[in-house]
Amino acid sequence: MPDVRNCRKCGKIFNYIGGAPICPACREKEEEDFQRVKKYLYENPGASLTQVSTELEISVEMIKRFLREGRLEIANDEGNLVLECENCGRSIKTGRFCPDCERNLASGFKSAASQMKLDLDSRSTSERKSLGMRYLNKEYEKGK
Ligand SMILES: [Zn+2]
Ligand SMILES: [Zn+2]
Repeated sequence: MPDVRNCRKCGKIFNYIGGAPICPACREKEEEDFQRVKKYLYENPGASLTQVSTELEISVEMIKRFLREGRLEIANDEGNLVLECENCGRSIKTGRFCPDCERNLASGFKSAASQMKLDLDSRSTSERKSLGMRYLNKEYEKGK
């Protein structure tokens, strides 16, 4: 039985084959955007998030997502493209957690994990939805 889902971006129904729940057309568009961001950052190291967003007409949220997914990394230490560890708030360059938290989480640091779950439970529905989506992504990536 085919796994049919609604595209997260355009809402169209499509045959889900894995990865982010995005239809082939939107996926292609997103890949294009990703390549453009990558190229722009390569040519303009240290560009700010707003600058990249304005120049390429790609939303800041989208660029942040590329960073969180670990697809983009900030090359320049002084760069203005800054993400925060979702656990302790420390500045990080890519992914969702700082190396310390990543290690703790990976080794099954139970209290941090349950604290995060509490955080999630106390968030608004829409926020929880987007966070849940990211957790799903992580799972899919692991499966690759
Ligand atoms: Zn779509
Ligand atoms: Zn951390």
